[in-house]
Amino acid sequence: MSVVVRFAPSPTGYLHAGNARPALLNYLFARKMGGKFLLRLDDTDVSRGTPEFAAAIEHDLHWLGLEWDDMFRQSDRLAMYDEAAEKLKKSGRLYPCFESEAELAAKRDQRQKRGLAPIYDRAMLSLTQEQYERAIASGKTPYWRFKLSNTPVVWNDLVSGKREVKLTAISDPVLIRADGSPLYTFTSVVDDLDKGITHVIRGEDHITNTGVQIDIIAALGANPNRIGFAHVPLLTAGDGQKLSKRTDSISLRSLRNDGIEPGAIIAYLAALGSSADPQLLSLHDQSKIFDFKKFSASSARFDLTQLMALNRKLLHKLNFADVQSRLPTGATEAFWLAVRGNLDLLNEARGYWDVVAGTIVPPVIEGEGDYLRKALELLPAEPWNDSTWSDWTNALKAATDRRGKTLYMPLRLALTGEEHGPEMKPLLPLIGRVRVAQRLVIAAS
Ligand code: GLU
Repeated sequence: MSVVVRFAPSPTGYLHAGNARPALLNYLFARKMGGKFLLRLDDTDVSRGTPEFAAAIEHDLHWLGLEWDDMFRQSDRLAMYDEAAEKLKKSGRLYPCFESEAELAAKRDQRQKRGLAPIYDRAMLSLTQEQYERAIASGKTPYWRFKLSNTPVVWNDLVSGKREVKLTAISDPVLIRADGSPLYTFTSVVDDLDKGITHVIRGEDHITNTGVQIDIIAALGANPNRIGFAHVPLLTAGDGQKLSKRTDSISLRSLRNDGIEPGAIIAYLAALGSSADPQLLSLHDQSKIFDFKKFSASSARFDLTQLMALNRKLLHKLNFADVQSRLPTGATEAFWLAVRGNLDLLNEARGYWDVVAGTIVPPVIEGEGDYLRKALELLPAEPWNDSTWSDWTNALKAATDRRGKTLYMPLRLALTGEEHGPEMKPLLPLIGRVRVAQRLVIAAS
């Protein structure tokens, strides 16, 4: 069996850590199995979705490197949904309803007062042809509900094992709105069947949908067992709240703007909620180690500080070629190798570039004037190389009897403007004699 999976975002917002995770897991599973990864835009709800969000989702997926094998939009497939709906109408599984929102609310209230679950009472199932025609003649337009089976739906979830949804505890879902537009619950099934989807991988919040959708699959005459379901537990924010409440701060675009690398996000999300430690690997290697069995069935905590730690680790290993285009113009490999070990975020390289190639103004270092003038006097002539720093500081040590912090700190502060930072040995030749001399003079004044 050749695996076909899909990531199916609704273009109603930006991708964030919570919904990028199913995208990644679908992608990794497809690549591991040598299968196909499809992108489907669930855009039939025109009141909520926008083309801008759709474009942003595509952009974010490209940025993460999750290239899809094929892409389609539900809004292009309305005829297919109509056809499938006709089939369900003919078999009596899709039935017309006319109750208004207010009527439904009143019924729910009444049921609750009687101690019954506030689910739809199926009153419209007993509508006669005559009553139906009268309603139409009076200008009403029906919406359509799916008549759920009265047996529970059971499946073996690839993440959480045996799952069961009691359909009798759920209202018959509306699949077609009064304006004729189909709802996700339905369109998703039609597409999954038509595209030969073999595995549906999505969040735990879709468990009830899965129960309903398995019932719809069977009603359309297909075998529900042809699709495997995997529901990954949801992510929570640091305080245990559902992550969806915090989507702005952890949208991929804000993480990108903050300077988080896609590789760190991939490593973090691929391991989050599983027994594995995050590993900074290529997508190809991530896919090789991907395994549903590693995922736990309980929710996982999304922790920005862990993501930052991975980002740091990743930056420290990145090659110049991987970052050159994002470094300040003129930045060299020697510069990158000198500073990468000190970066939390790539953007910070800009500050160090100012140190080596710009005109930073160091502070005047109180009480160190004589020492810094001595340092200027002993500054070696160019050309400079990796041993210049030790040649210079050894000469200063001999001349002043200083050692350790008192020897090095005033120099670092004068040359970089900071007390901490990258190793001075590779930095010194990059700053060059002219800048070093100018800074020593300023700091000594
Ligand atoms: N559009 C749905 C969502 O974003 C898709 C869920 C699914 O994978 O079926 O939640």
